Amino acid sequence: EAPMAVRARAQHCTAISEVGLPRAAVLGILGGGQLGKMLAADAARMGIKIEVLDPTPDCPASVVAKQTLGSFKDPTSIRSFAEGVDILTVEIEHIDAKALEDVMRDLNVDVEPIPATLRLIQDKLLQKQHFHSAGVPAADFCSISSPADLQSAMQSFGTPLMLKARRGAYDGRGNAVVDEAADAEAAVSSLGGYEQGLYAERWEYFVKELAVMVARSRDGSTRAFPVVETVHQNSILLVTEAPANVPKSIYQQAQQVAEKAVACLDGAGVFGVEMFLLEDGQILLNEVAPRPHNSGHYTIEGCATSQFEQHLRAVMGWPLGSPDLVTGSCIMLNILGEADGEEGVQKAHELMSRAYAVPGASVHWYGKAEVARQRKIGHITITAPDRATAVRRLACIDSEAAATLS
Ligand code: ATP
Ligand code: MG
Ligand code: MG
Repeated sequence: EAPMAVRARAQHCTAISEVGLPRAAVLGILGGGQLGKMLAADAARMGIKIEVLDPTPDCPASVVAKQTLGSFKDPTSIRSFAEGVDILTVEIEHIDAKALEDVMRDLNVDVEPIPATLRLIQDKLLQKQHFHSAGVPAADFCSISSPADLQSAMQSFGTPLMLKARRGAYDGRGNAVVDEAADAEAAVSSLGGYEQGLYAERWEYFVKELAVMVARSRDGSTRAFPVVETVHQNSILLVTEAPANVPKSIYQQAQQVAEKAVACLDGAGVFGVEMFLLEDGQILLNEVAPRPHNSGHYTIEGCATSQFEQHLRAVMGWPLGSPDLVTGSCIMLNILGEADGEEGVQKAHELMSRAYAVPGASVHWYGKAEVARQRKIGHITITAPDRATAVRRLACIDSEAAATLS
């Protein structure tokens, strides 16, 4: 073999051969947004060769990984992308699950987490039914396909009522609140009508929202990261705080609910588990994401193993790393577009320049092609020895965000 080729391969595969996987394994990611970028950055450090499939030219991940232009919703693009990889994973669940089943069978490509899990999770109603039958506590819900269904949901659950789209949801797009019976039809049309596939949930008056990243290895064992409190604004995640400022019994219960939810899914990877904490101490599952998650970004600076490294370890079949916190307190602030275009970039830069002056603050800029209002364009992580210091540091960067942490 030519020395050049040997060297080129060795560049990527030392770590892989040491733990007994094929030397030349290439990991393909469906989606090359910020999650793909952060996965690829850890992969580069670990010596794993990454390629991403994304339809937007110069997607965020393209600065650290080879990009193939194409849609993760298109079977033909998925197939030709899959021909060049050994293992496939995702940074987004809104992919074509059937196309993944086909390449698994026809091309012998390993897909993690398995397509059946992605198919289940991408339909939030099927997801709720699955967790309900597995005994994971969650808000009451029912399928909605007609005005009569909606009437009976309002009768059993009362108002306000949360109406949700079964598919394609993110950042609260796909949710509509029905405050009273008179709003019902407007809420349905705002989600595209009954034929889009809808369901309703009882409104939960939670005191906090909590989230836990859980890794699931190929042998099915699970490992939970710390519990974080998540603060949403307009249904978009704004701030996370680790560890969550809750009593020990609540903390443990949240980890148990999260691990139980992930244990009843198949396939390897990390999963983001969102939960509601009720006044009486009950914890309800909200939803699960089958991939690295915004509520786990703090792990890059805050934990011994980041959620991205953990996902890579899980899908490669390697031992999971320690999820322990390596700092007393860790807060993450999302940088959301405050305006479209240049004005939005300017505002974000002001926030980032304040962050650079704060000890323990790390800036992440995703490099998206466009900045738009309410869009996630970066995040800032603050580490500190204790909670009070972390909150004070956050206040120096964004006092309104700091005020959301009670
Ligand atoms: P993501 O971006 O996390 O995927 P999503 O668009 O799938 O979000 P959900 O997680 O279903 O949306 O809901 C978004 C937010 O709306 C929740 O974090 C919570 O603040 C609120 N919410 C959702 N369901 C309920 C409910 N049943 N009762 C009260 N509030 C709710
Ligand atoms: Mg969701
Ligand atoms: Mg959510």
